[in-house]
Amino acid sequence: MTYAEAEQAFLNNLKSIYPTKEIKSLFFIWVNMLTGMSHTDLVMGKNNPANDIIIRFLQETLTRLKNNEPIQYILGKTFFADLPFYVNRNVLIPRSETEELVNLIVEKYSGIKQLKILDIGTGSGCIAITLAKKLEAKVYAIDNSDDALKTAKKNSILNEIDIILKKQDILASDFLCYEEFDIIVSNPPYVFESEKRNMHSNVVHFEPEEALFVPDNDPLIYYRNILNHAKRLLKSNGQIFFEINETQAHNIRKLLSKNNFNNIVLFCDIHGKTRFVKAAYYV
Ligand code: GLN
Repeated sequence: MTYAEAEQAFLNNLKSIYPTKEIKSLFFIWVNMLTGMSHTDLVMGKNNPANDIIIRFLQETLTRLKNNEPIQYILGKTFFADLPFYVNRNVLIPRSETEELVNLIVEKYSGIKQLKILDIGTGSGCIAITLAKKLEAKVYAIDNSDDALKTAKKNSILNEIDIILKKQDILASDFLCYEEFDIIVSNPPYVFESEKRNMHSNVVHFEPEEALFVPDNDPLIYYRNILNHAKRLLKSNGQIFFEINETQAHNIRKLLSKNNFNNIVLFCDIHGKTRFVKAAYYV
């Protein structure tokens, strides 16, 4: 079988669920991750016999894609901010919006030494590990899921960077942390339960619910709890950075003011949705 024939198998099998352009891009991601071939390699080599791994894994991949499983879970790996990350169904697939959140922090703090950062709800560890790679920082990351923490640990080894991982539940009454931080960052669950019915089945059926959804009657539950602790955990003039639900910008701004945070700035993502907020805490 050649690469062109493998691509044809993708097109034949997936045409009823995905547009052609998306199938071609799925095929490229798949080949690239399995073989390291670039776009040019693939175009130039399309009539070459496909690598063994491509042939062996083709049928299973097509079955799983037809079942709406995200390609990142099928491959077990993805990229975030140009760094490799293992992913599985215990952690969210890192989003490009979250890369923008990380960039905001890197731009502001680049060149500053001895930073201490806390990432709340780390999941795959993508935020914490990327910040540790790009800044001179000691990074702490917490999550309430053992499985997520295991994945984050594997990702820190994969990226050859030390971060401090701890099992902690920000909603628990016994939440404990005695460190003080320059930066607290979080991309907590923020999608309303009621938004679920409009979401694509590859998100709803495969990604961990507990990392995505919040009750409609208390959508800021994580932000409220984080801010409660943040006042104690931030150094004077420390900053908080959140990824947010675009419908909650106004309410989050109010919540930050009520908790005595200042210099509140909202940012849009590349799709023009209000997606991030930063704020400072002065004692
Ligand atoms: N942006 C993610 C999504 O739309 C949600 C991430 C989150 O809840 N923190 O699927």
